[in-house]
Amino acid sequence: MTDDTRTPVLVVGGGPAGLAAAAELAWHGVRCVLVEPRTEISHRRPRAKTTSIRTMEHLRRWGAADALRAAAPLPVAWSQRVTFCESLYGRRITDFDGAFGLTTARDDRFAEPGQQVPQPVVEEVLRGYLRCQPGVDLRLGHTATDLTQDPQGVTVRVRAGADPAYLIRARYVLGCDGASGIVRDQAGARYEGRHDLRPNFNLVFRAPSLDTHLGPAVQYWVVGAARDATSGLIGRLDLAGTWWAILPGVEAAFGTEHAGELITGLVGAQVDHEVLATDPWAARMLVADRFADRRVFLVGESAHVNPPFGGHGFNTCVGDAVNLAWKIAAVEQGWAPPGLLASYEPERRGVAEATVASAESNNRLLADVLPRDEAVIRRAKRAEFHSLGLVLGYSYAGSPVIQPGERPAPDVTSFTPSAEPRAGPAADVTMYTPSAEPGARLPHCWLPDGSSLYDHLGRGFTLVGPVGSAAGGVEDLVRRARRRGIPLALAEAPTSYPWRDEFLLVRPDQHIAWRAGDPAGIDLETAAGFAPGL
Ligand SMILES: Cc1cc2nc3c(=O)[nH]c(=O)nc-3n(C[C@H](O)[C@H](O)[C@H](O)COP(=O)(O)OP(=O)(O)OC[C@H]3O[C@@H](n4cnc5c(N)ncnc54)[C@H](O)[C@@H]3O)c2cc1C
Repeated sequence: MTDDTRTPVLVVGGGPAGLAAAAELAWHGVRCVLVEPRTEISHRRPRAKTTSIRTMEHLRRWGAADALRAAAPLPVAWSQRVTFCESLYGRRITDFDGAFGLTTARDDRFAEPGQQVPQPVVEEVLRGYLRCQPGVDLRLGHTATDLTQDPQGVTVRVRAGADPAYLIRARYVLGCDGASGIVRDQAGARYEGRHDLRPNFNLVFRAPSLDTHLGPAVQYWVVGAARDATSGLIGRLDLAGTWWAILPGVEAAFGTEHAGELITGLVGAQVDHEVLATDPWAARMLVADRFADRRVFLVGESAHVNPPFGGHGFNTCVGDAVNLAWKIAAVEQGWAPPGLLASYEPERRGVAEATVASAESNNRLLADVLPRDEAVIRRAKRAEFHSLGLVLGYSYAGSPVIQPGERPAPDVTSFTPSAEPRAGPAADVTMYTPSAEPGARLPHCWLPDGSSLYDHLGRGFTLVGPVGSAAGGVEDLVRRARRRGIPLALAEAPTSYPWRDEFLLVRPDQHIAWRAGDPAGIDLETAAGFAPGL
């Protein structure tokens, strides 16, 4: 066995979290090795279908958003709707339009609309993207088996098929190996939380002749069926006759034996079909008790797991990856100290907990318990389909590398790691009010030339504001940045921007680190992690 690979960063796992981490590292020009056991990506287990506005904004930054949209079998223009009905052939109860951030209109609040696209397609597009990045060594068919840490780095044992195991030596290891990976245990972390005892049963089937008078929708919720009839979610995976379905409350053995009847129940009539795959699963609400151990970090589902309703799971994983990867890049490039990495967990734990709490709330009222009552459905399900407050409104306020200030009261309910869920209603995640408070995502706007404000941000920090008209203070900040070697770009705020008279120090992940009326008041060093005690 030889120590035959040395790399700044080893990414263990090539699901959405690992692929996004490698993409962010590549974007900053930092080399990494990614090991992933799956050589092929199966389309039989589509899992996530919702790529959020925020994930699409990250893909836009990497230059991969158009490739994902081109590969997505359901264009945004095809439908932006979720329909509740008695069956695909039955009565429409109500529609939620503009669900999951889907829109064909330009909206000042974001740079990209959401996209419905099966997770395997996202993974294929990201693999393709990474293959074109010279700094990424994508090792498919390779599995990490164990790791050891010392003050200088981490040594990871890796197996590839029947070949002898080999070692990878990395300065940092990102555990992107999902809920059943090895890194969480090896980092001494464990999940806290609870499991939903109700079973769910997923189906993927082909039915080219199946259509519905209800018109295009990305999800059809068949609700309120009488006892012994079928309730569940159903939708198209593509426009060529492949469908998915989720049947809440259905045990695996029953689902496997009665798949045809379940499809008939959702459709409302018999339809020619071929079952391609079945997948039983149960919802889990879990957050790890720690997200890091020295040079090893948990990213994505290795750190937290939430029910899929609301479509947040993989998007939160991508958010973790971006948050950590730019910081590692800054440390590797020498313009931030290793202490910056200590801000990863405080910044991402709150987001993970809010996401788990919201998804758990969505998971309480599924198709099998919802009545055929429009008012009840609209009240119960609005937050599941319109959750911009969660997708865009999360904040890193309170982080040691964010300007201190009045910490805003959390506007979303947090997860409690006990065995019992918190009593009472979930907070409203539907409200998103753009905010320039430190910690918030930079409020977006479109510029007169049609570009996004985000297109003008640098790969390091960016000072957004009236940079042309405040020469002295800006020059001083630029000088301070140069002395420290901190990359700092300047972006003039457009005249229509509500915060155009202020100076906003924006991080590589588009979050505001500091806000000041004068650049002299910006503590660039603290934002980059140089504050003592980190
Ligand atoms: C039915 C269903 C529907 C869902 N719908 C949505 C949705 O609409 N939107 C959404 O955002 N999310 C959704 N999710 C959740 C989403 O699928 C997960 O959140 C996401 O896959 C987690 O990404 P990850 O990269 O953290 O982990 P994973 O996707 O689990 O990836 C982990 C990777 O690590 C690899 N690995 C494991 N062990 C090792 C090892 N020892 N060495 C190296 N590699 C290893 C695995 O092969 C795998 O590729 C859904 C999930 C389910 C079950």
